[in-house]
Amino acid sequence: MKQARKTLTNSMTLSFLSLSQNESFARQAVCAFVAQLDPTLEELSDTRIIISEAVTNCVVHAYKKTPGEVFLSVKCYSDKSIAIKIKDKGCGIENVEQAMVPFYTTDKQGERSGMGFAIMQGLSKKLKVKSETGKGTTLDIYIKFGE
Ligand code: ATP
Ligand code: MG
Repeated sequence: MKQARKTLTNSMTLSFLSLSQNESFARQAVCAFVAQLDPTLEELSDTRIIISEAVTNCVVHAYKKTPGEVFLSVKCYSDKSIAIKIKDKGCGIENVEQAMVPFYTTDKQGERSGMGFAIMQGLSKKLKVKSETGKGTTLDIYIKFGE
């Protein structure tokens, strides 16, 4: 049987400053938006964690001294899949492959465990990270509900 092609059913974009209080704003906004796809509580909780890790990285790593802008977009598709883009124009990551290794962190205060990317990867279907030093970082995160 021929598979039906997935179509875009809804989309939204947000931008906000990289302030720690906007981490909860971002995760609540995304969860409210994707609720229309009828996710399970577990799927919603996974989505919340992914957004939280990604936005926290913008707050603590991308813009270290002064808060900068974070761009977030969500696209929903007819097959209950979701594409989330989270972009900053901060310091960028020198070596993305190394940064994604579990427990790797550049944090010197000992407050971070270096597990953010590993968590995002584990809870999503696909995670793509593009980064350029001095220009910023873009995460493309794909999630599929109902699997
Ligand atoms: P944790 O997420 O467990 O609190 P962490 O943030 O250090 O610790 P990851 O989220 O896996 O761990 O990120 C690994 C490293 O990648 C960070 O220590 C940081 O050097 C770099 N990094 C991650 N996101 C960004 C970003 N948006 N801009 C610049 N550097 C980043
Ligand atoms: Mg992190």
